Formats: sequence, C-alpha cells, structure tokens
Amino acid sequence: QGNSPLLAVRDVSVVFGGIIALNGVSFNMHKGNILGLIGPNGAGKTTLFNCLSRLYQPSSGDILMEGASILTRPAHKIAEIGIGRTFQNVALFPNLSVLDNVRVGCHSRTSSDIISDSLKLAWVRRSEADVNKKVHEILAYLDLEEVGHTVVSGLPFGTQKRVELARALAADPKILLLDEPAGGLNHEEVYVLGDLIKKLRDERHLTVLLVEHHMGLVMSIADHVVALNFGRKLAEGTPAQVQADPDVIKAYLGSK
Ligand code: ATP
Repeated sequence: QGNSPLLAVRDVSVVFGGIIALNGVSFNMHKGNILGLIGPNGAGKTTLFNCLSRLYQPSSGDILMEGASILTRPAHKIAEIGIGRTFQNVALFPNLSVLDNVRVGCHSRTSSDIISDSLKLAWVRRSEADVNKKVHEILAYLDLEEVGHTVVSGLPFGTQKRVELARALAADPKILLLDEPAGGLNHEEVYVLGDLIKKLRDERHLTVLLVEHHMGLVMSIADHVVALNFGRKLAEGTPAQVQADPDVIKAYLGSK
C-alpha cells in the first residue's frame, strides 16, 4: 500500500561467537517485487535468509512485516503471518506423493493465537473439497498435474524443487523466500524456473526474495538487487545498477 514496504530489514546484525556474519544490514521489500540477494561465499546471505525465516535471532536490529516485528514469532509460525520458504536441498516428505506434500502445505497456515477468530472460523469451515481444489489448481499452475500421484523421491531434482514451490504456495504466502532455487538445476531447468517466478509475480503479485548464486537468473528476473559482502550491504538498486557497481565488481573478482 502506497510506498510503505511489505517487509523491512532494519539494521540487522548477527554475531556467532566472535564472527560478525551480518553487520547492520537494512533494506526494504515492496509488494509484487522480486528482490535478488547476492554476494560472494560467506557474505551473509544464508544468515539473513535464516533470520527472515526465523531460524536465527538477530543480535540486534529488527525485521518488520507490514509494520510489525516478526522477531517475536517462532519459526514454525511464520507461515501464519504470510512468509513462505523453500530449502536449498529440498525438504519434502520423500515417501509421500506430490499431492500429499502440497496438501501438507495447505495446512501449515492453521489457527493460532496470532490470527483473528473470524479467520480461525473461516479456516475450520474450509472443507476438504476446498483443499483438494486448491491443491489441484496449484499443481496445474506449476505444470505438476501428471505427477500428482507420484512419490516425491522418484522424481528428478528439478521437479522436486517445483513441488517444494507448490507446497510453499499452498500456504498462500505474501512473501516467498527462495533459498538458491537454481542450485543443482541444468540450464533449461533454470530458465523454466525463472519464467515461473516471474509468472508468480506478474499474475499473483507475489513478493519474492531470491537468494541465489546464479547471477544470470537474478539479473534477468529481479526488480531490485541487494549485494552483501563480509556481512555488510555493499550495494543495492536495479540489476543493471548493481552489476555496474565498482564495489560489487571488485568483490566478485576478488573472491575468485
Ligand atoms: P554462501 O554463499 O557460501 O552460502 P553466505 O553468503 O550464505 O555464503 P553465510 O553462510 O551467511 O554466507 O555466512 C556468513 C558468515 O557467517 C561466514 O563467515 C560464516 O562462516 C559465518 N557463519 C554462518 N553460520 C554460522 C554459524 N552457525 N556459526 C558460526 N559462524 C557462522
């Protein structure tokens, strides 16, 4: 709404023992944008991702979702405030079918103390038929219909990643956090994934945080890029601005 960010990272620092993994990082995420988070190895990307998904507690700073701090919410409750995530190495139930894995996603936004009674009531009223309809709609959207009854462990890695995306979408996230989605994918699969993420933004106005090493993917689909190095924000702007930034070029060349 207006110019207020959907999510605001404010001066976040994370210290592990003596190591400063993140050092006063701030940026905003706006609704319907894809934000690419880049940086050389050890820059702090995973640490920041883990703060957003509540696996890590920042040593200082705050993270606000629609103006309210998320730092009081435990990790297992972030789906309820509209934060969905995928994992670097796929974290599905390998022995369940694609349909069942996505069904689980539908239930990850169940009633709790942080949603209103009217929402709880709406949830309870949501019939199994509604869940099935939704699951099938998501599978069709992600071109996974024909593997709906297939056990996840029997699918190629690229397809498993798409199932993970389907499961995350089933919880109706406002923000989707993608942890290196292109990792382990071939060129064609990365291209398909990029198109899919763009489609989610354009058709569903989803807000996406993309932590990614695959620079081609980030630069072709991100609206805004934040570059980290040694735990600090090095640069931010459009993909073209960040790509041309002398500090960013130096950081990447220096890390080779
Ligand atoms: P990569 O691209 O290699 O995944 P990254 O940008 O995700 O790197 P982080 O994994 O966030 O970087 O690491 C940032 C710094 O914090 C590194 O110096 C790392 O060694 C350190 N670090 C990360 N997690 C921990 C931890 N649990 N305990 C101690 N130090 C950590």
